[in-house]
Amino acid sequence: MLQDAVRSSKELIELENKYGAHNYHPLPVVLSRGEGVHVWDVEGKKYYDFLSAYSALNQGHCHPHILEAMTKQAETLTLTSRAFYNDVLGPYEKFATEFFGYDRILPMNSGVEGGETAVKLCRKWAYKVKGVPRYKAKILFVTGNFWGRTLAAISSSTDPSSTGDYGPYMPGYEIIPYNDLDALERALEDPNVAGFMVEPIQGEAGVVVPDEDYLPKAYQMCKEKNVLFIADEVQTGIARTGKLICCEHHGFKPDILVLGKALSGGFFPVSAALASDEVMLTIRPGEHGSTFGGNPLACAIAKASLEVVRDENLSENAAKLGEVFRDRMQKNVVEKSELVSLVRGKGMLNAIVINDTPDSPTAWNLCLKMAENGLLAKPTHGNIIRFAPPLIMTEEQLHECCDIIEQTITDFRPE
Ligand code: PLP
Repeated sequence: MLQDAVRSSKELIELENKYGAHNYHPLPVVLSRGEGVHVWDVEGKKYYDFLSAYSALNQGHCHPHILEAMTKQAETLTLTSRAFYNDVLGPYEKFATEFFGYDRILPMNSGVEGGETAVKLCRKWAYKVKGVPRYKAKILFVTGNFWGRTLAAISSSTDPSSTGDYGPYMPGYEIIPYNDLDALERALEDPNVAGFMVEPIQGEAGVVVPDEDYLPKAYQMCKEKNVLFIADEVQTGIARTGKLICCEHHGFKPDILVLGKALSGGFFPVSAALASDEVMLTIRPGEHGSTFGGNPLACAIAKASLEVVRDENLSENAAKLGEVFRDRMQKNVVEKSELVSLVRGKGMLNAIVINDTPDSPTAWNLCLKMAENGLLAKPTHGNIIRFAPPLIMTEEQLHECCDIIEQTITDFRPE
């Protein structure tokens, strides 16, 4: 049996290369255990996890409270499908809607399904409530967005590595420049625009933070034109940026909120779209769903994951640690090393930009060196390194991590 054999990192990498699709390019580190802010590779080397599975592990690896809830539920009832009621979904829906301040929640699994649900809800609302002529509804997206890999998601992408050779694409979308309120104003002139979908901070694009007034003004402009503001908070949500959701920094509540990743604490794919009665009740029985969406196991995990966020004050911790991190990176890296041109981010969603072209190997090689020194991070778009550790990290641990990053950059000699 595969799991009985003790295999080296090299052998395990070869197995993936030989038998798996080549749709990822991982750092050559093979992990076999995780606990809190740490992971261990198969040879027993310990690392700080500074990616947290793209912010799915805000609560840290194998959090005991979530593990207990999951194990208990797994022993009782895991899946009913929505053909029947179950005794976990309703209590979870009450808990989650009160937690985020919405009338209703529609549970799905992966983040991209949460986004897809938001797009479908928006179109339905356009026809049933706003009065857009049948099949003329348009949804606005911005350049550099990322919300997953399905055809609906990549149809809004401006990244050729996401879109290349996958056409034809979904109609009814318009892509406008990011962080450009004039472009939004012009696009909103079209009365068939039903929604504007945006990540408050663009995660996959390299932690791109818009101007301070962009989001609140965009929200206001959408309100004036009766257009739904859809916030994709799959990566920024659930305490990552120092508030429960990132839009909270700007004092407004999106019309549709999309969540995923850390809604599961990293245990299981759990996502959701949250909205008002007016929006959510446009979808009738049989018009949208998923076999696994809202299953008892996922509901138990998601409820426990949110309890950890609340009980361990993860938003406050992310806000506090984020200041420490950016301060140290600014003083000890950006101002001292030619290699790094800037640090940016909010809360504990941060990135440094390497002073080199996106096709240079510098960021990749730096990540290899950081791994050697006991910290795992991964480049995005060639010359950007995202730093997003679990939010349960202590300040002392963060300082240790900053020491590793700073030392690695100081010692680094580009090829
Ligand atoms: N939305 C955002 C902002 C994301 O960052 C991601 C994934 O990285 C997704 C949606 C898609 O989530 P999933 O990979 O779970 O489908």
